[in-house]
Amino acid sequence: MNLRKKILALSAFFIVLAASFFIDTMLYPPKGVPILEYHMVNDTEEDAYTVPSEEFAQQIHYLKEQGYTTISLLDFIKAKKGKETLPDKPIILTFDDGYVDNYTDLLPLLEKENMKATVFIITNMIGTDGYLNWTQLRDMQNKNIEIGSHTANHLPVTTLDSKQKHDELNLSKLLLEWNGIKTVFFFSYPNGAYDDETEQILKDGQYLGAVTGDAGLNTFATNPYLLQRVNIPRPRLGLIEFKVRLLKAEIFTRLGISQHV
Ligand SMILES: [Zn+2]
Repeated sequence: MNLRKKILALSAFFIVLAASFFIDTMLYPPKGVPILEYHMVNDTEEDAYTVPSEEFAQQIHYLKEQGYTTISLLDFIKAKKGKETLPDKPIILTFDDGYVDNYTDLLPLLEKENMKATVFIITNMIGTDGYLNWTQLRDMQNKNIEIGSHTANHLPVTTLDSKQKHDELNLSKLLLEWNGIKTVFFFSYPNGAYDDETEQILKDGQYLGAVTGDAGLNTFATNPYLLQRVNIPRPRLGLIEFKVRLLKAEIFTRLGISQHV
């Protein structure tokens, strides 16, 4: 190959490269909103669902450093309907099951950073050993915590018949609202299991959205009843693992989008 041909080949290569970057940017919408999925934050439990408070503090500090602003699920849905503007890099922090450490250990850390979060409650566990009680729940909602339902008994909805599904979804919502919790608009599927019937019951029951355990980020095109999350269990590799998990969700989302294109 002579020099001229080499230059031409090289130019062609760079043009294709530049074009693919351009197409990539045009095709892929903004990255989407991460919804992080936590359970416990404390220094006493050592299971896979507990993030030690120091590590959690590092994670939220990192998010701040990266320019993320916490929003509630209601903020996200309002923005989707054009009723609210989202910050540049929104992120949603969610905590499943309603453990008491969400009040004793987590809330002070969030308050210190002026951050919002969403807590999903198993209503039949309220006030029992290790779980939040009503006073704590009402206090949390006054401190930027959005309260959602995680059913009454934490049974995977796919194992329930229609009547049981109605009861688990609607009675848990009503119970929270009767006890001084603001209108419950969001739901978290126990064990991440979902089906079409449950989605319909949520819509009929005036829920505005639900979170799954499926990995990915969320855009306004994401089905609001099948919002995806980034699972954050107890880290084994410190902050690097947290960064990798965020990145993984982004990749999953990109792959999901490319499958539809
Ligand atoms: Zn759960």
